[in-house]
Order: sequence, then structure tokens, then C-alpha cells
Amino acid sequence: MEQRLPANHLIDAEVLVLDQALQLLQQAGALLPDEAPMSAAWLQAVLDALCDLSSRDALTGLVNRRSFEMALAREVDRVARSGEGALLLMLDIDHFKAVNDTHGHGAGDQVIRAVARAVEQTVRPMDLVARVGGEEFAIILPNCASHVGLAVAERVRERVSELAIEVGPGQMLSVTVSLGGAFAPQWVRSSPLLWTERADRQLYRAKAEGRNRACLEPQIDSLVSAEEKGMLFASLNLETQQDTI
Ligand code: GH3
Ligand code: MG
Ligand code: MG
Repeated sequence: MEQRLPANHLIDAEVLVLDQALQLLQQAGALLPDEAPMSAAWLQAVLDALCDLSSRDALTGLVNRRSFEMALAREVDRVARSGEGALLLMLDIDHFKAVNDTHGHGAGDQVIRAVARAVEQTVRPMDLVARVGGEEFAIILPNCASHVGLAVAERVRERVSELAIEVGPGQMLSVTVSLGGAFAPQWVRSSPLLWTERADRQLYRAKAEGRNRACLEPQIDSLVSAEEKGMLFASLNLETQQDTI
């Protein structure tokens, strides 16, 4: 029979079935909210916790592919509006299949976790590190100047290569990674897909050139000349002044 909602409420919280949602949160180790169960604040906290859970990768706790794609689209917009440089790095563990084949899937999982931690610790808090595939990661670096791009990618590569990952009692493993990177075109609205493809192409190049290396797309400093930028701002200022007259 159809449930009638009370006139003064949009939803009668008592009719909600939340067992599975709460079980999921508990299993993921998410803290359940302190608020009174079924209060608006409690429901909001449950929804927030579910959103957080669905945007993260279970193995590493990093942002997952879905969340990465949303963040990348936001960054494309921001770069088009601000003209600030932003770098996208794609990272792939070298010869990872051999780790699984030789040491087992569990050891492979430990390597993925260790690489994730190392990458996170190497970049700035404002940078977004995501796990976008099995042993593939993406890093969005907003506000990244073109002349430091390669140094950042090299720092990540070096940090991972220095890891000694314990995959069993006294059994230490080392791995290397390849990175490919591309800057978002400034002052121009590009697409997240094109940006990813350009970075992927550089990753492919890093693999083809021998792995354990970082390749960045040669940077065209700006698609708009300083003179053009000046004209653009001048016309914007003029409009602002006219608006206020
Ligand atoms: P390359 O240097 O060209 O990247 O070689 P590769 O061996 O790393 O590449 P390939 O794509 O052949 O192998 C990736 C492997 O990653 C195959 C797959 O079984 C494994 N893999 C994918 N996801 C996971 C995971 O979550 N855990 C573990 N342990 N292995 C995974
Ligand atoms: Mg791969
Ligand atoms: Mg690989």
C-alpha cells in the first residue's frame, strides 16, 4: 500500500530502510554520526559518509576514478577562467604483473598501497591523487608552473623507486613507476578527455623509452600572447567601469 507522507514533512524518516547503508559504513570503518538517530542532522551525516565512501577506492583510500573525473572537469573550468597552469600526471607501476606472478596477489596489493602512500606524501596537500585503474594513478596539480612540472614528476618517480616494501617476513620489494604529464591549455576551454589522452600519450612514451622515467608534453607557454592577454584584460576592465557608471 502507498505510504502517505505527513503534511508537514517531505519524508517520514521512519519509513526509510537504512540497514544496508549503515552496514556498509560500519564495514568500511566509517564513524557513525553522534546525532540522535533519524534526526535531520543524523541523516545528513549518513549521506555525507556514504558520499565519501563512494568517492574513495577501497584498497588505498585514495579518490577513485569517478571522483577524479569530477575533479578534472572542475580543474578544466578553473584553468579556463583563471589562466593558471595545471598539470595532470598519469602514473603506472612498471612490470607490475611480475610482482603478482612472483609474490602473489596479496603482495601486489601491498605494493599498490605503498606506492599510493608514497605519491600522496610527495605532492602538496592541494594536489589530488587518485587511483584510476589497477596499478594506475592520476595526480592533478593545480596552480603548477610549467618550469617545475618535470621536477615534480621526477620527485614522485624517485620517491617510489626508493621504497623498500615489506611483502612478507623479511621480504622486501622495490618497484619503479613511469609517469606521463601534460598541462591544461591556459585561457582555452579544453575537455577532460583530451587532457587525459595527452597525459596518457606521454605515459606511453615513458614506457616505450624504457620505463622508470617521466615524460612531459613539451609546454607551449601560453596559447595567448602577453599582448593579447593585456588587450583581454583591458576590455574586461572597460566593461567593469562601464557597468559601474
Ligand atoms: P607495464 O610496465 O607495461 O605497465 O607492465 P605491467 O605488468 O605493469 O602491466 P599489465 O597491464 O600487463 O599488468 C597490470 C597488472 O595489474 C595485471 C593485473 O592482474 C594487476 N592488477 C590490477 N588490479 C590489481 C589489484 O587491485 N591488485 C593486484 N594485486 N593486482 C592488480
Ligand atoms: Mg597499467
Ligand atoms: Mg603497469
